[in-house]
This record gives sequence, C-alpha cells and structure tokens, in this order.
Amino acid sequence: MIDLKELTPDEIDRLCVHQLGQKPGQGHRVAVQLFRKRMDDIDGMTDLNRPFRELLKRRCTITRLVADRSEIAEDGTTKLLYRLGDGNSIEGVLIPGRGRLTLCISTQVGCASGCRFCLTGAGGLVRNLTPGEMVNQFFAAARFAGERPVTNIVLMGTGEPLGNYDAVIRFIRAATDRRGLGFSPKKVTLSTCGLAPMIERLADDNIAVSLAVSLNATTDAVRDRIMPVNKAYPIERLMQAVRYYGDKTGRSVTIEYVLFKGLNDSDSDATRLGELLQGIACMINILLFNPFPGSEFQRPDEERAYAFRNLLLRSGHVAVVRSSMGRDISAACGQLRAQAK
Ligand code: SF4
Repeated sequence: MIDLKELTPDEIDRLCVHQLGQKPGQGHRVAVQLFRKRMDDIDGMTDLNRPFRELLKRRCTITRLVADRSEIAEDGTTKLLYRLGDGNSIEGVLIPGRGRLTLCISTQVGCASGCRFCLTGAGGLVRNLTPGEMVNQFFAAARFAGERPVTNIVLMGTGEPLGNYDAVIRFIRAATDRRGLGFSPKKVTLSTCGLAPMIERLADDNIAVSLAVSLNATTDAVRDRIMPVNKAYPIERLMQAVRYYGDKTGRSVTIEYVLFKGLNDSDSDATRLGELLQGIACMINILLFNPFPGSEFQRPDEERAYAFRNLLLRSGHVAVVRSSMGRDISAACGQLRAQAK
C-alpha cells in the first residue's frame, strides 16, 4: 500500500495515471482533497466518484499521527510530542505571533550534528523522517491548533534538514504546491547548522524556500567548540556557500546567532560578524540561549543582546533581537523528547 502523504501532488497524479488508469489531472484532485481539504480518509473524498475512490483504496492508504503529549507556555507557545509508528518520538512547536502561527517541524529522529547547546544533538541520529511523517506533523499540529490556521512553517525541529535532503525537498514541494499545503515559499523556512555543499545544492536545485543558517560564532575556535560541523565546514567555507546561495538564487538569507554569555557575545564578536557578512544580503536574528538542566552555557542579559545588535546596525546590517518564546516550558530543542524516554 502506498501512503498518499509520502507523495507530492505531481507524484499522486502520475500514480493515478500510470497505476490506476486515470486521465492526467485526476490525481491533482486527490491531492487537493488530501492536502488542502485535510481529508485523512479516502472514503471522505466525496468530490471523487465512488469507483475512483474504490480504486484508490485498493492501492493507497493515508497514515495519521496524533500529538501524544503537549505543554503550553504562558505566552501560548505549545510544544507537542508525537509518537511515530515505530515507537520513536519527535517534537513540534506551535509559536503564536501577531497575525501568525508558526509551526516548527522535525526532519529526523535525533540528529548527527551534535551541537553542544542542543539536547537533541547529545543523543545522536536515530533515523531520517519520511516526507509523509513531516506532512503528518503538519496535520497533527493543525488539528491541535483548531480554528487558528498555521501561517508559517519552519524546519527547525529535531534534526538537520539538509542531512535528510531528498525527503525534506519532497516535503517542501508538497508544502509549497498550490495543490499541496499551498504555502508561499517565503513562509517556509529551512534552517541548517551549516552543511556547506548541501546549501550549494539547494541553490543549484532552485528549491523555492527561505534559508536560515545557524552561525553562532565568529571564530573557528569558538564554533568548533559549540558546533562540531564546523570542523568539516569551517566559517570561511560556510560563508562561501552562503554567498553562492545568495548570488545564485537572488534570495536574502537569515543568519541565526544564539548569544552565549562570555563566549560569543562580545563587541569584537559583533564587529567580526558584521565583517563576515559584508556584501551578503541577509537579516541577522539574535537569540538569547535558553539554558536547560545540565547545560554548560549561560544566557546573557538582554542589555548585552541589544548592545550587540546596535553594533551590527551601525555596520549597516539588518539585525533583530528575537524574544525567547515558551521559556516556562521545556523550551530547549529535544527537552520534551528527552523527558518522554
Ligand atoms: S541544533 Fe539542530 S543541527 Fe544542531 S544538534 Fe540540535 S537539532 Fe541538530
């Protein structure tokens, strides 16, 4: 049986033509029922005639995922824990904002990148998620959100999206197709810890999505310490890939910079960061580290964060201090999953 959620709208159409003997375009009607109308059940696709539905049921199925556990913070940020069919668990987060509701989606069970400030990284990679498991996270979270529509998707949950490239690209295609989930590519953000060759591949493949790069340091000595990926792709190599991406796609990139007290938050860091990003069309998101039990790093105060931002503004960059949402719940990446084990 083929899970329809594993396919892009174009793949559903090809399946209907080549395996079910339908005319081209019929499969797109199935995709619209599935993705746009959120029909989790072939019998419920009453826009399709009964013989077609029966044919579909013989070859296809539609899987479901439900949120196993949730924690809601005072600011409305909701952390969700999903239990997968094989017993593994992954996390998702719904983040409310003014006129928006952002859903953070996981792309892997665990993660191979081993960032020292992330609980997920400590456990290593268990397995990649399939495109259908990513679509299912969207469906489960949207059901949880009820009336309030999800307006933005960020691939920033458990896992390194570019470490699961093919599945993630198929999910992005389903998310941004007008017969799929129908999101504008500007509303879908892929965040990477810096797999330089894959950033270049994303540009070469011309995948319409917003790119965020988690930089977090301005010297290789510090980045080596907090992000082991830096040993494979040091800052200069990463910047080369980011420039290539910007030049090839014409899109601006978001640079994520988490501030750790006394480690990467000095005035010299801000100056170096400004120099590193010279000539790159980008926006810098400054975040304050969210400590979790046992973490070796500390959170700087907000005054330091704004002083850091002001130096970047003075060097002509666009930089914003982002507030930490959901600080009163298990807000660190991987925290809820760690508690559930
Ligand atoms: S921060 Fe992201 S890339 Fe780094 S270990 Fe955690 S999940 Fe992986």
